[in-house]
Amino acid sequence: MARGADLHLHSSYSDGTFTPREVVAQAARQQVSPIALTDHDTVAGIPEALQAGVEMSVEVIPGVELSAHEEGHDIHIIGYFIEWEAPKLQRSLDALAERRLKRVNEIVKRLTDLGCPICLEDVQAVAGHGTISRRHVARVLVSQGYARSISKAFDFYLAPGKPAHVDPVGFSSLDAIDLIGHAQGISALAHPMRSKALSMLPHLVNQGIKGLEVYHPSHTTEDIFILAKYAHQHNLIITGGSDSHGEGTGGSRIGNITLPQKYADDIKKCGEHIRKTSRK
Ligand code: AMP
Ligand code: MN
Ligand code: MN
Ligand code: MN
Repeated sequence: MARGADLHLHSSYSDGTFTPREVVAQAARQQVSPIALTDHDTVAGIPEALQAGVEMSVEVIPGVELSAHEEGHDIHIIGYFIEWEAPKLQRSLDALAERRLKRVNEIVKRLTDLGCPICLEDVQAVAGHGTISRRHVARVLVSQGYARSISKAFDFYLAPGKPAHVDPVGFSSLDAIDLIGHAQGISALAHPMRSKALSMLPHLVNQGIKGLEVYHPSHTTEDIFILAKYAHQHNLIITGGSDSHGEGTGGSRIGNITLPQKYADDIKKCGEHIRKTSRK
């Protein structure tokens, strides 16, 4: 019997340290099911996670966490039950990957000017098959002795307002929500208490967002209460998870925050409904 669901997890296909198979194995050990693999801006880890899920009896929901910008806010929009092979989704993610690479190249140039001469190839090697991000730049800064820790690399160089910061790339919120909708998925606003994202919610609801991440390690008991009330008022699906990035990342672990099974069942029902109605 599962302890609950964890619907926000990262693997080595974005900035997590575990492979999708290792993520599933951890979930099995923690008796967490279903889980959703929600890598940043990529769906490439999903087939491996689904296969491992079958082998280890963990229900795996195909997901993605899309980067979006709207009215000066950087927000993350999660898609659950996405048809990850949908050509439009794949094309859009490929185009975003190119823009991410250009951005990281710009960050590397700035770091070189600041006396930290790292090279793009080293960052690409750390990112491997994953979505390249500032986190990988931070890892290279640490491994080459230019920063004492990942968080110090952000504090000194990479965070907004710091000298090597370059504006993030991503979709507009409407494009992110529509992309998930086209792929028959359920969209939800991730960690709404971060970067004043909650203030965007009425706008996102108008744009068709379907859910709200109520359970997240950054949320207090009071946050959960406020967000659950908001979700009920606006008829949004309640979702949540640990946002785990794996080992040695300083963040939450798999299964640390679980979504009550009732809400996981609601999301599954909604996913089934979307698929049934789209087949007609
Ligand atoms: P990017 O998508 O390139 O902007 O990189 C964002 C990623 O960097 C996030 O998904 C986090 O994993 C990581 N990150 C952002 N800010 C911090 C921070 N202050 N400390 C550690 N990691 C961070
Ligand atoms: Mn991340
Ligand atoms: Mn996020
Ligand atoms: Mn995340």
